[in-house]
Amino acid sequence: MVSDAVTEAEMEALPRMLTRLKLTAIRDRLDELLNEAARRELTLRQTVTLLCATEIARKDERRVQMGLSIAKFPYARTLESFDFQAQPSVDARAIKELALGRWIANGDALLLLGPPGVGKTHLAVALGREAIARGYSTLFTSATALVTALSKAHLEGRLDERIAHYAKPKLLIVDELGYLPFEPNAAHLFFTLVSKRYERGAMLLTSNRAVSEWGTVFGDPVVATAILDRLLHHSQVITIRGDSYRLRAKRRSGLLQQAAAQTPQPVQP
Ligand code: ADP
Ligand code: MG
Repeated sequence: MVSDAVTEAEMEALPRMLTRLKLTAIRDRLDELLNEAARRELTLRQTVTLLCATEIARKDERRVQMGLSIAKFPYARTLESFDFQAQPSVDARAIKELALGRWIANGDALLLLGPPGVGKTHLAVALGREAIARGYSTLFTSATALVTALSKAHLEGRLDERIAHYAKPKLLIVDELGYLPFEPNAAHLFFTLVSKRYERGAMLLTSNRAVSEWGTVFGDPVVATAILDRLLHHSQVITIRGDSYRLRAKRRSGLLQQAAAQTPQPVQP
């Protein structure tokens, strides 16, 4: 009886110590891992390595999950789920190189340009995900949400605070620049942010407009030039061509013709 009680106390002590050391993956899977070590006839050193590797994998996974929830991506996408064959204007090797994140460490800019539906947001989210996995804090916003937030903060006298919020992450992704033209004040606010981040934090921008059209996008060619001057100084531009991926898939399945046939005709006055 007595020896049983000692064993029980010992059994309880280890999970408690592991909890205190915050080694929760080892704690939760202790029996399973020790059984595995026995089955594989691991040495003590190999067993400790297996336990540490398990804990590190759990901590990395948690960190990525936390980073993903902070980033506020509009949807979950990965590089693995990007069909490079369907998009020959995108160089898979160049994207995989970008996924390593050197440009983020350098605080460079990356512009993904092209018509709607070609995969700009997909690639932006997937590269953002890779950035998080490599330990770079990342925030995603649409250009409209960004300038709305900055304008509001400006009116409320809290602009510095808001700029600091968008200046803080190592990578800021601004999606859909140019879908709506900016008011001149919004262009100034955007310029303030770009200046603040310049050479400190990386930016990834997506746009349906060519860089030459950005004067119109920003509603002010002088501010547009100042923004582009900073963005393009250390930058890579990837221009994606071709049809919308979604429409292409639908067209292939014959859905689009059906949909077109059902499109209501405008009412004649
Ligand atoms: P946009 O260029 O307008 O930002 P998206 O990236 O949002 O387009 O792409 C539209 C949809 O099509 C998304 O659901 C995206 O995941 C998908 N998609 C686009 N291109 C590809 C591709 N090459 N492989 C896989 N999915 C793609
Ligand atoms: Mg998009």
